[in-house]
Amino acid sequence: MLNPLTILAVTVLSGAMGIAVLGSLWRAAIPGVGYWISANTVAIVALLAFASQGHASRWLTVVAANELLAVSLLLVVEGCYRFLGRRTRPWAAYAGAVAVLIGMTYWTFAAPDFNARVSVASAYHAALYAMLAVMMLRDRPSHRPRYCYYFLAAASVLLCVGHASRGVMYGFGMLLQSNLLQVTPGNVAFLALGILAPPCLSIGVVMLAHDRLAERLERLANVDDLTGVLSRRAFLTTGDALLEASLRARSPVAMAIIDIDSFKAVNDRYGHAVGDQVLSHFAAFVSGNLRVGDVFGRLGGEEFGVLCPATTSAEAVRLMDRLRVRLASAAPAELPRGLNYTFSVGVDQHRRDESLAQLMARADGALYAAKASGRDRVMAA
Ligand code: GH3
Ligand code: MG
Ligand code: MG
Repeated sequence: MLNPLTILAVTVLSGAMGIAVLGSLWRAAIPGVGYWISANTVAIVALLAFASQGHASRWLTVVAANELLAVSLLLVVEGCYRFLGRRTRPWAAYAGAVAVLIGMTYWTFAAPDFNARVSVASAYHAALYAMLAVMMLRDRPSHRPRYCYYFLAAASVLLCVGHASRGVMYGFGMLLQSNLLQVTPGNVAFLALGILAPPCLSIGVVMLAHDRLAERLERLANVDDLTGVLSRRAFLTTGDALLEASLRARSPVAMAIIDIDSFKAVNDRYGHAVGDQVLSHFAAFVSGNLRVGDVFGRLGGEEFGVLCPATTSAEAVRLMDRLRVRLASAAPAELPRGLNYTFSVGVDQHRRDESLAQLMARADGALYAAKASGRDRVMAA
C-alpha cells in the first residue's frame, strides 16, 4: 500500500542495500566511497526519525530528522568532490545545512509553520542536486565513458525539479498539510519521488566507482609500469588505428624501432636499479622530444617503438638523428656521474596494404643493420 510510512520503510531498505553494495568497494580505496556509505547510514537514521513522528519529541522527529537528511545529501556531494579529486570542500552546501538547522528550529518552536519548513528543506535539496548535476557534467574526466556521469546528472536533475516544485507548492500554500506522514495525494506523490533518491544515488555512485576500477585495470594493461609510456599491447593497438587513419587520409607514416646500446653492460656495471633509471630517463627524454600525435611505446626490455604520422622515412631519420645528437651532447644529470648511453634506430615507412607487424619487421631489420655497423646511429631500411 502506498502510504508515507510504507514509502519510508522501503527507502530505509534501499538505503541499507546501498550500504551493502558500496561496502564491497571499500577495500578498493576509491576516494569518496567512505562518504557515500556514511551518507546512506545517516539517511537511514533520518528516515527512522521521521517515521517515529507522534511517538517522540519534535526535536527528534522534525529538527534532527530534517537536519540528518540534509547532512546525508551533503555527504554525497562531499564524496563526489573527493572522487573527482577537487581540493576544496562544498562550503556553500555546509552553509545550507546550517541554514536548514536554524530554519527547522525556528519554524518548529518559535513560529511553527509546516509549509516554511518544507520550503527551506526543499530549497536546500534542490540546490544540492543542482550542484551535483553541474559537477557531473562539468568535472567528469573527458577520457572516460560518459554513461555513469550522465546517469547521475540526469537523476540529480529529476530530483532537483521534484524538490524545487515541492518547495514552491508548499511555500505558496498550494498544498494543505500539517505533518509529513499525512496521507494526501500531493504528499504521497512527492514521497514516491523521494523514494527514488537513495537507489538512484547509490547506483550512480557505484557506477562511478566501478568506472574508476576499470580505469585502473586499463592503465595496468596499457601503460608500462617502469617508464609510464604505452605498453607493447597498447602501442600495437594505437599503432593499428594510426595506420588505418593515415591510409584513409593518404598520408605517410614512419616507424622507428629504437634499442639502447650495450644495455647489458650498464646493468652489469651499475646494477639493475640504475639500468631501470636509464630506461625511465630514456622514455622521458624521447617523450619530451616528440610531437603531439606521435605514438611512443616500450616494445620490451630496452627496445622502444615510435610511429610518426604525416612523416616520411627520410624525415623520421632526421628526427631520430637529432634525438641521438641531443642525448649525446648533454650528460643526464639524474644518472650516476660518467654514465652516458647511446642508442641505435631502424626506420622505415609504411607501405599500402601492409600490416603493422610487416612494417615493424622491416624497421627491425634496419635496426639490426645499425647495430652491425657499429651502434649509435640511425639507419633506414
Ligand atoms: P645491443 O647494443 O646489441 O642492444 O646490446 P644490449 O646489451 O643492449 O642488448 P642485450 O639484448 O644483450 O641486453 C639487453 C639487456 O636488457 C638484458 C636485460 O637484462 C636488460 N633488461 C631488459 N629489461 C630490463 C629492465 O626492465 N630493467 C633493466 N634494468 N634491465 C633490463
Ligand atoms: Mg640493446
Ligand atoms: Mg634489445
